[in-house]
Amino acid sequence: MDFTKMLHKFTVVPSLTDELVALQRVAYNIWWCWEPDAINLFRRLDTELWEATRHNPVEMLGILQQTTLESLKNDEGFMAHLAMVDEKLSDYLAEKTWFQKTCNGSSQMKAAYFSMEFGLHESLPVYSGGLGILAGDHLKSASDLGLPLVGVGLLYRQGYFRQYLNNEGWQQEYYPENDFYNLPLTLERDAQGTPLSIELDFGPRRFKVHIWRVQVGRVPLYLLDTNLEENSPDDRLITAQLYGGDQEMRILQEILLGIGGIRALRALGIIPNVCHMNEGHAAFLALERILLLMEKRGVRFNEALEIVRAGNVFTTHTPVEAGIDHFPAELLDRYFGKYYRSLGLSRDDFLGLGRQNPKNPQETFCMAVLALKLAGHANGVSELHGEVSRKMWKNTWPELPEEQLPLTSITNGVHTRTWMSNHMASLLVRYLGTRWLDDPTDHNVWRRVSKIPDAELWRTRQSCREKLVDFARKRLKEQLVKVGATVKEIATAEEVLDPEVLTIGFARRFATYKRGTLLMRDLDRLARILNNTEMPVQIIFAGKAHPQDQEGKELIRQINQISDLERFRHRIVFIEDYDMAVARHLVQGVDVWLNTPRRPLEASGTSGMKVAFNGGLNMSILDGWWCEGYQGNNGWAIGKGEVYEDTEYQNQVESRAIYDLLEKEIVPHFYDRGSDGIPRSWIATMKASMQSLCPVFSTDRMVQEYAGRSYTPSYQQWKQLVDDNLALALDLARWKERTFKVWPLVRIEDASAQVADAVAVGSLVPVSAKVFLGDLPVEDVAVEGYFGVLDSTGNIQGGETVPLESVTPAGNGLYLFSGTIECRFCGRHGFMLRVMPRHKVLGNVYEPGYLLWG
Ligand SMILES: *Cc1c(COP(=O)(O)O)cnc(C)c1O
Repeated sequence: MDFTKMLHKFTVVPSLTDELVALQRVAYNIWWCWEPDAINLFRRLDTELWEATRHNPVEMLGILQQTTLESLKNDEGFMAHLAMVDEKLSDYLAEKTWFQKTCNGSSQMKAAYFSMEFGLHESLPVYSGGLGILAGDHLKSASDLGLPLVGVGLLYRQGYFRQYLNNEGWQQEYYPENDFYNLPLTLERDAQGTPLSIELDFGPRRFKVHIWRVQVGRVPLYLLDTNLEENSPDDRLITAQLYGGDQEMRILQEILLGIGGIRALRALGIIPNVCHMNEGHAAFLALERILLLMEKRGVRFNEALEIVRAGNVFTTHTPVEAGIDHFPAELLDRYFGKYYRSLGLSRDDFLGLGRQNPKNPQETFCMAVLALKLAGHANGVSELHGEVSRKMWKNTWPELPEEQLPLTSITNGVHTRTWMSNHMASLLVRYLGTRWLDDPTDHNVWRRVSKIPDAELWRTRQSCREKLVDFARKRLKEQLVKVGATVKEIATAEEVLDPEVLTIGFARRFATYKRGTLLMRDLDRLARILNNTEMPVQIIFAGKAHPQDQEGKELIRQINQISDLERFRHRIVFIEDYDMAVARHLVQGVDVWLNTPRRPLEASGTSGMKVAFNGGLNMSILDGWWCEGYQGNNGWAIGKGEVYEDTEYQNQVESRAIYDLLEKEIVPHFYDRGSDGIPRSWIATMKASMQSLCPVFSTDRMVQEYAGRSYTPSYQQWKQLVDDNLALALDLARWKERTFKVWPLVRIEDASAQVADAVAVGSLVPVSAKVFLGDLPVEDVAVEGYFGVLDSTGNIQGGETVPLESVTPAGNGLYLFSGTIECRFCGRHGFMLRVMPRHKVLGNVYEPGYLLWG
C-alpha cells in the first residue's frame, strides 16, 4: 500500500507572539548573514544549537521549545538587542541607495540574474563553488546598491554533496536532504493562497514547478522546484542535485532554469527587460523571451531577436573546455523538436544558434555559443580571461579582429561584509570611520589604513589566526571521532598547529589545473621549511573534488597521507567539507593565501580577494584577478606569467619558485621582528595590500560596473528598439533582410594608401577605395580603414579604424571613398579596408557573414 497517498500533510511553525515576530522577520531575510549584530543575536539564542544547525536561524526557531521562546520576552537584554537589529533591517530596506542617487529613480530597468547556483550562506546549501559564491555576492551587492534586480535559480533537494574522508584519505560523499521548511524559504502563492505553479512541456517530459523565494536584503531570489507530488518520479528528480546526473539531466535543468525561470517570473508578474546569464547554463532564457514576444506582439523570430538580444547580458566564467556544456543534436531534437517550430525556425537554423559556424554539422550545440549569439553584452571575469575568451570564441565572429570582438571583461569581486572578520571590521571602523562600509570602492578611504597603528593591526591579525587554529583543531577532532580514532589520536588534535606560526592557506576545488599538490613535489625541502625551529610554517588545506573526478580525489588523498607523516603531522592539516563557513575561517585567519592554477585556466578566482580584505597576503601564479591585483609591493607573484608547453616541466619550475619565495622572502619577512615582537615590514606589506586591493576587488565595484557598462546600456538599447510599438526593431529586422539579400554582390575593387615606404610619425596618409555596391544604397554601408602596427607574424596588432567618406558615385553601382589615417606609432604598419552594413539610426551593424575585407 502506498501510504504517501493517504498522508495528510501540514506544516508546524513556531508560534511567535507579537514581540517576537521580529525574530522571524530577520531570520527570513538573508541580510542577517552580513550584519554582525544579527548574527550575534541568533548565536545568543543558543550557542550550541547555532553550531549544530550550521548557523540556520529558521531551523533554530523551529527546534527551540515554545517555553524557551516565551521566556525570551522577559529577557530585557535580548529584547533590546532584537529591537536594535530589527530597526537596522528596516533602516537598511528604507535607505536611499546608490542606484536611486545615480539614476534619480527614473529608470524603468528591471533586471533578472539567472544562475545555476547561488552561494549566500552555508545554511542554504545550493552552491558548489566559485560560480555560486559570486552569484550570491552579486545579489548581496545588488541589494546594497539598490539595483532593480531579482535572482532566478533552482532549489535542489540535496544541493551539492558534503565531504568526509575515509581512513585512507579518500573522499566520500553524502547528500543530506534540504528541508525546505527549515530554510529561509517562502513558497509563492496566488491571492487565494494556492501555490503558484508553472508548467513545462518538453519532449517526453511534462511537469509542474513551484517557486520559492529567498529574500536577500532588497533583492528577491526565486528558486524553482519540481519535487511535487503531481510530477512523475523522474521529473521530481530534476531539482534533486546540483551538477548531478548525466547530460540529459543537465539539459532538463537548463530548460528549467532558462525557460522555466522566465515563465516563473511572468507568473509572479515580473517581465524583466535585462536578463543576465551567469554562465551559459541559463542561455535558453533568450529563446523563451523571443517566443513570448512573438506571441504577445505578433512579430517574427528575427524581429523579436533584435529586441531580446539587446536586453541580454552574458558572463562567461571558464576557459576550461570541460566546464562548458555541449549537447548532441539528438538531445535537442528530443526536447526542442516542438519548441523550435513554434519559434518559426528550421532544425538547421535552430542548431546553428549553438554553433560557432552555424553551417558546420560537426559542431555540437554549445550553451556558451548560444549565449554569445543571443546577448548584446558579453564579458569574461578578469582582463586576462577576457583576452583568453576572445581567442576561445573568435570563430563566432569570424570577420572581426580579436580586439574588436564584442566580448569584454568585468573583473570579479567579493561582498566585503560577508567575508571580512568582525575583528577587522571593527578595527577599520575605529580608524577609517564607516564610509568604507557604504562605499567600499572609495580609494581615499582605504588610504587611511596607513593610520592604523602597527601594533593594533598586528593584534587583530594574531587573534584572527588564533581563531582559525582553534577552529581547525575543533574540526580535526570531530573528523577523528567520526572515523573512530583512538583517544590518544584524538588528543593529538588539540596540539596540531600553533597560533603564533606563519600560516598558509590553500582551499579550493580540487580540479587538477589548480594543482593542489604543487607545494608537495619536494617533501624534504618542504619539511625543512615547515620545521625550521626559528621560523616555522604551517599549512591548512580544504577543498572538494567533483564526485566523478578521480584525479582530483587522488590529490586530496595524497595531501592527507602526507599530512599523516610524522614530520608533517603538526604542520599540515586538511579540513573536511569545504563550504562557506570553512572558507570564512580560512580567509580571515591565514597570513598567506597560496594560489597555483596553471595559467591561464583560472578565469578570476575570488578567494584571494576575501583574504585581502582580512589583511592576509596573496602568493599566486599571475593568473586571473592577480594579474590586475599584484603590484610588486602588495603580495607575491609565483613566476612572471609564463605559459609552458610542457606541463610537467612547468610544475617543476613553479614548485621550485614557491620554495624559493618561501625560503628567501616570505618566511624571513614574517619573522623579521622589532624588539616589541612586531613585524614592521610585513605590516607595511599588509597595508599596501589592503590599500590597493580592497577598493577594487569588491562586488560593489563589480556590480556598479555591470550596472554602468552592461545593464544600463542594455536597457537603453532594448528601450530604443521597443519604443513606438517596436518601430525600430521592426525596421532593423526588415532592413537587415533587405541588405543581406543584396550583400553578396558587394566587392572592393581597389584600395590604396598614398604613402611612401617610410613616413614620419604623426604623418597623415590619405587613403581611398573603390567599392562596388550594386543596388545597395550608399548610405547603407560603412567603409573603414583598419590599420596599425604589424606583429612578427604580419598581423595588425590592436588596430584602429577610421571611417572613409563617400566622395563620388562612379556610376554602375561603383563608389569612391576616401579618408586619412594618422600614423601615431613608429614601426612597420599595415593597412586594410573593410565594408560593413550601416543602419541609419544604429550605425555600423556587424553580423557574421556580412563584413568584407580588402
Ligand atoms: C570563495 C569561495 C570559492 C571560490 O574560490 P576560488 O578562489 O575561485 O577558488 C569556492 N568555494 C568556496 C566555499 C568559497 O568561499
